Amino acid sequence: MASSLLAKKPITLRLCGPRGFCAGVDRAIQIVVLALKEYGAPVYVRHEIVHNRYVVEGLEAKGAIFVEELDEIPAEHRKQPVVFSAHGVPKSVPADATSRNLFYLDATCPLVSKVHKQAMRHQKLGRHVVLIGHAGHPEVIGTMGQLPEGAVSLVETVEDADIYVPPDPDNLGFVTQTTLSVDDTAGVIKRLHERFPNLTAPAADSICYATTNRQEAVKQAAPGCDHFIIVGAPNSSNSKRLVEVALRAGAKKSVLVQRASEIDWDDFGDISTVGLSAGASAPEVIVNEIIEAFRELYDAAVELADTVEETENFLVNRELRHVPLTAQDMAFVNGD
Ligand code: SF4
Repeated sequence: MASSLLAKKPITLRLCGPRGFCAGVDRAIQIVVLALKEYGAPVYVRHEIVHNRYVVEGLEAKGAIFVEELDEIPAEHRKQPVVFSAHGVPKSVPADATSRNLFYLDATCPLVSKVHKQAMRHQKLGRHVVLIGHAGHPEVIGTMGQLPEGAVSLVETVEDADIYVPPDPDNLGFVTQTTLSVDDTAGVIKRLHERFPNLTAPAADSICYATTNRQEAVKQAAPGCDHFIIVGAPNSSNSKRLVEVALRAGAKKSVLVQRASEIDWDDFGDISTVGLSAGASAPEVIVNEIIEAFRELYDAAVELADTVEETENFLVNRELRHVPLTAQDMAFVNGD
């Protein structure tokens, strides 16, 4: 035993903090767990509540049923609640739920709702809205759907900003998706400002605290890393951005994995320092699974690379605030 331990190659795991679940994800998962306790199974959830299979499968095991559209909810279950995901929904979705006599609980992150309000404020003040974000992402679909068709233009890149033709160049306001790259977005905004000097910014940054903090922690930890593992799903915007940030900040390689079983160990031959972080929808239990996988193969030392402490906490919907959570529920909600 002792000799096999000695034979293991030493490796340092540089563990970023903050990482993993943000307050919006935590709240969304709580809403589904509390709804299951209050109303019993099934509880329907429109779209993945957060972009993570582990979380989705855990909620399915408790009695949640995930659907993409409201018409998938069978008539005999219309009295059961349907939860809208943390990414937010177009205004047409709650309107559709009401017309179908469905009882819905909105788990849209309050910071996404804030962006919706900022977009609506631009429009109220007569501005055409430029949304900086990724086409097809549910949050972008939700934000565009707060305003009438044609009131919002989507700009994804600096190249898009170069060729964008607005309806009135002097009457523009922008908002952004909450989970973008802080640096890339600054470049797009700069280009838009150069072309449209009267472009109005939102009252507060649209990129959320969790995205900003996770990117900053990875940026600080990446120099000197031979490899950087980000725990997250391929459809998780903020997780994908962390891979890009790690590479730009100096990590020689970076990869997105959903579970330890996805790690390609051939990539870890002659290396000594590996960065590790997790996107805002990735539970801590998988970070621990990856640390354990390293410990089985290496003499792994964990080095904490903490930047700021996060204290954000968002209240769940009023209808659910009286429902108690057990310690076991809390562990699930916290991703432990
Ligand atoms: S990443 Fe930001 S906007 Fe998205 S759920 Fe978390 S806190 Fe809210």
